[in-house]
Amino acid sequence: MKEVVILSGKGGTGKTSIVGSFAALAQKKVLADCDVDAADLHLLLNPSITEENEFWSGQVAVIDDEECTQCGLCQDVCRFDAIKDFRVDPVPCEGCGFCSHICPVEAITMKESLSGHWFISDTKYGHLVHARLGIAQENSGKLVALVRQQAKQIAKRDGLDFIISDGPPGIGCPVISSLSGANLALLVTEPTLSGIHDLERVRGVCHHFGIPALVCVNKYDLNEDNTHQIENYCLNQGVEVAARVPFDNTVTEAIVQGLPVVEYSPGRVTQEIESLWQHVTRALEQ
Ligand code: SF4
Ligand code: SF4
Repeated sequence: MKEVVILSGKGGTGKTSIVGSFAALAQKKVLADCDVDAADLHLLLNPSITEENEFWSGQVAVIDDEECTQCGLCQDVCRFDAIKDFRVDPVPCEGCGFCSHICPVEAITMKESLSGHWFISDTKYGHLVHARLGIAQENSGKLVALVRQQAKQIAKRDGLDFIISDGPPGIGCPVISSLSGANLALLVTEPTLSGIHDLERVRGVCHHFGIPALVCVNKYDLNEDNTHQIENYCLNQGVEVAARVPFDNTVTEAIVQGLPVVEYSPGRVTQEIESLWQHVTRALEQ
C-alpha cells in the first residue's frame, strides 16, 4: 500500500480538483481529506457518512459551581479573559491550567474538550475518511494524523493499493502531520509569484522530511514566463515537473456539477490529469 499526499502550499490552486480526479481514476484506493480546517473534497465526492466519531483533544477549565466561593481570583489571573461571572468560556480558554492551580478551594478542574468530529463515508469512488475541526479549535495536526491512521487501517483491511490524501494548505503542523511517513508528495502550484514562493516553502518541508516530490503546474498557460521560472526552480532542485495542466473553463463547470473534471469532460485537462496519475503511480512503484 502506497500513500500520495497532494499539497499546494496554500488554498485555491486547484488541488482538490486534482484529488477528486485521482479518486475517479485510481483503482483500489481509499481517500483521506487531511484539510480538517476547511475540508472541501466532500463537495466533489458526494459522500454518505457511515461512521461518525468525536475528536477529543486539548483541555478546557471547568468551574464547579457548588465549590466556587466567587472570590474572583481566577477571573483576575486569566490572561485570555476566558472567565466571566464565574463561568469559563471554552472558546478563548487556552487550557493553560493556571486558574485550576490558584483556585483556593480547588473548584476548577481541567477536562478534555470536544474539538471536532471525524467520519468514514462511502462514495462512488470508494471510502473517504474526513474530519471537521470545531470552531476556534486547535490541534489540527493531531486530527490529521487520526484521519491518516484511519485511512491506513481501511487500506490494510480491504487490501487496497493506494491512499490518496488531500493535504492541508500552508507549511505548518497539519502539513507536517499529513506528510510524515508518506511515500510521495504531489505539489500543485500555479504560475504566480505567490505560487512560486509557496512551492519553494512546501518543497522545503518535503526535503526536510525526506519525502520525494513531484510538481504539477496548474493553469500553466496563464503566465508561461512564471511557468518557466517554476520549471527552472524544479530543475535546480532535482524535482520533476510531472504535469502542466492548462486553464480550462470545464474545471469550474465540473465543480458546479459536483463532478471530478475527468468525469465531466474528456478534454485537454482530463488528458493531462490522466497522464499525471500514471506518472504518480510509476513514482509510487519505485
Ligand atoms: S478562584 Fe475558585 S473560588 Fe475563586 S472564583 Fe474562581 S473558581 Fe470560584
Ligand atoms: S485554563 Fe488558562 S485560559 Fe483557561 S480559563 Fe484557566 S487561566 Fe484562563
